[in-house]
Amino acid sequence: MSDSLFKFMLGAGHVRGVVVRLQSTWQEMRRRRQHDALVQNLLGEMTAASALLAGSLKFDGTLILQIQGDGPLQLAVAECQPDFGLRATVKTAALSAQVASLPELANAHGLGRCVITLDPRNKMPGQQPYQGIVSLADTDGEALGSMATVLQQYLAQSEQIPSWLILASDDEAACGLLLQRMPISGGQLGTVSSEEQADEDFSRAVHLASTLSRDELLRGLPEELLHKLFWQEEPRVFNPQAPHFHCTCSRLRVADMLRMLGQSEIESVLKEQGEVDVTCEFCGAQYAFDLVDAAQLFRPEVDKPPATPQRQ
Ligand SMILES: [Zn+2]
Repeated sequence: MSDSLFKFMLGAGHVRGVVVRLQSTWQEMRRRRQHDALVQNLLGEMTAASALLAGSLKFDGTLILQIQGDGPLQLAVAECQPDFGLRATVKTAALSAQVASLPELANAHGLGRCVITLDPRNKMPGQQPYQGIVSLADTDGEALGSMATVLQQYLAQSEQIPSWLILASDDEAACGLLLQRMPISGGQLGTVSSEEQADEDFSRAVHLASTLSRDELLRGLPEELLHKLFWQEEPRVFNPQAPHFHCTCSRLRVADMLRMLGQSEIESVLKEQGEVDVTCEFCGAQYAFDLVDAAQLFRPEVDKPPATPQRQ
């Protein structure tokens, strides 16, 4: 079963959605990095969610979904590239057996947050990536129990689009389904009846999708799920995509990072260890820089050939 992501629209077009199923992507991630089941499942849900969010936006760049935790989980990151290349990583302290939920894992003192960054592929000079932040609690301060509820709150607050989603992950697959109520288009306010109709269509779609169990989501093919849930709504399916594992690390990027650390820092590591070893926290790739490589890093600019021929 290959990985897939579909965008779709229901009925009169007031409801749009995205559905994703990751199996080989998820297996590749699990092969490279192993974690406790609770952390692993959160990472699977976040990876599926990053693909759903990227699929729901018209945006050319990298979508980065982060949980910055204040419990045993310090940081979890899932990234989705414009071609649905996916990678994820997590940093945790040792987990005690009592830790069994998202609030216990990432919001132990109520300071955990979810951060979504949109980093455009072709940035204008000085352009900063867009960033949206929500807490891991609802507006009453009650801790949100799942990644899906955190993102639902994010979408309601940041994008102001009524949204509903379900996420699930286990040893085999990571999957998700997102529904959104389309704003009435045309740049003007819709009539009362079209607004009401859109609200009605959205609540009916949510009602139908709520019958989906976690297990059905994990085991079913996206096309079959859409048909099974929404056959009365005549789903129209668009833009099939092929999500896949892809890490954007490279020797060049690691070299840039080492340059930023500075020559004296790198020289002291070389003195101690003979070489500088860097492991990519996303994919586990290892990059080694020995004395000669390190010397190249800090060669003065004048040594490099000029980009354009010089004239006298
Ligand atoms: Zn990597």
